[in-house]
Amino acid sequence: MSRSAHPAGPRHADVLPEGHYSAPPTDLNALDPKVWARTVGRGDDGTVTVGGIPVTRLAEEFGTPAYVLDETDFRARARAWRTAFGPDADVYYAGKAFLSRAVVRWLTEEGLNLDVCSGGELATALSAGMPAERIAFHGNNKSAEEIRRAVSAGVGRIVLDSFPEIVRVAHTARELGVRQKVQIRVTVGVEAHTHEFIATAHEDQKFGIPLAGGRAAEAVRRALQLDGLELTGIHSHIGSQIFDMSGFEVAAQRVVRLLEEVRDEHGVELPEIDLGGGLGIAYTSDDDPREPHEIAKALTEIVTRACEAARLATPRISVEPGRAVVGPTAFTLYEVGTVKQLDGLRTYVSVDGGMSDNIRTALYDAEYSVALVSRRSDAAPMLARVVGKHCESGDIVVKDAFLPADLAPGDLVAVPATGAYCRSMASNYNHVPRPPVVAVADGAARVIVRRETEEDLLRLDVG
Ligand SMILES: *Cc1c(COP(=O)(O)O)cnc(C)c1O
Repeated sequence: MSRSAHPAGPRHADVLPEGHYSAPPTDLNALDPKVWARTVGRGDDGTVTVGGIPVTRLAEEFGTPAYVLDETDFRARARAWRTAFGPDADVYYAGKAFLSRAVVRWLTEEGLNLDVCSGGELATALSAGMPAERIAFHGNNKSAEEIRRAVSAGVGRIVLDSFPEIVRVAHTARELGVRQKVQIRVTVGVEAHTHEFIATAHEDQKFGIPLAGGRAAEAVRRALQLDGLELTGIHSHIGSQIFDMSGFEVAAQRVVRLLEEVRDEHGVELPEIDLGGGLGIAYTSDDDPREPHEIAKALTEIVTRACEAARLATPRISVEPGRAVVGPTAFTLYEVGTVKQLDGLRTYVSVDGGMSDNIRTALYDAEYSVALVSRRSDAAPMLARVVGKHCESGDIVVKDAFLPADLAPGDLVAVPATGAYCRSMASNYNHVPRPPVVAVADGAARVIVRRETEEDLLRLDVG
């Protein structure tokens, strides 16, 4: 990502504030298709539309803030992943990115499988009719109750994350009189080039069992000994928002080396390898993600080559994209409340949501884009910081963005690429009810997750 301060001054300050931003775009009304959902466009009257519906109408009908999800785009991206990997591989959508019953139905229809990592996600998946054998259960601290529910529901795989869990799952399966399919999650010791909190393959962290020191080989040994378990493969998830394929290459090679050791020691060729998720998306025009077919080709080649070298039959590959499926398909629609110009410093644009509906900026220093969507403007670009309404100065939605200088209270702005890890990480900070998710397709909009109300919040308060 190349970033540079632009010499052209913003309207409200003689000196550009410190920060990372690109040059102001030549046309603030343009919507970069890299960061916006596919059916988004600007109509002749200047209003942005999605699925043929003007955002002004969505705001009137459903209120702001709201997450607006382009169902057509979601289905197209899910299908693109499915098609790219073909019938000899499996695509598990990572439910933690965003999960609702409508999403589960779309995934089921489009032929994807589903990763869950809590009892709540499992309940959502099952209640919307995802067949249990298409569900994988993850997590570094699954409770006894969650393990029991997953095994009795008949989930297709449980991904074992620790030595105690190998024993717990085997015990539960024996009690329930079944043989549970499992994979072992390993940490391969790769440094993924991403934020520390979303990198998951280095060894000093809570997920997985290290390949180093023979720990993963020992886990395989134990899992093979226990009759409640059917060990089908090895799992590796190296992190999130990754663009560089080299981390996956090293991970796949190390996992295949383990498969080779397992064959040599036990005479067993494990039939599956899961390379996890983590594929990056464009949050700003500076990001250049790869298409699913390129990723599928690269990953398949990496695994095939490593297996040929080890004289192993190529295992069935699975991947677990979350962000790359849902991230680009939604935007958050906000109304502008206050515009505060701090002379010589910065312009703050306050919107009616904030860190409660998008924690990623505060948590990961994530970068986003933003655009005025309720009208067209030919005003000069103004460098602004888009902030929320919460009682925290770190309540930043978009750190540095160019918006038209005539931006005013009542205007609608939208932040694209908020489909993943925004609604799913939303909180009630300051007792702000969480926004709805509105799905749009072919000129129709419907609520798939309703707006939380103050009554919802008060209902939990029983003191
Ligand atoms: C979070 C996670 C994913 C999905 O990651 P994305 O970056 O959303 O693609 C996949 N697999 C596992 C095990 C995860 O923890």
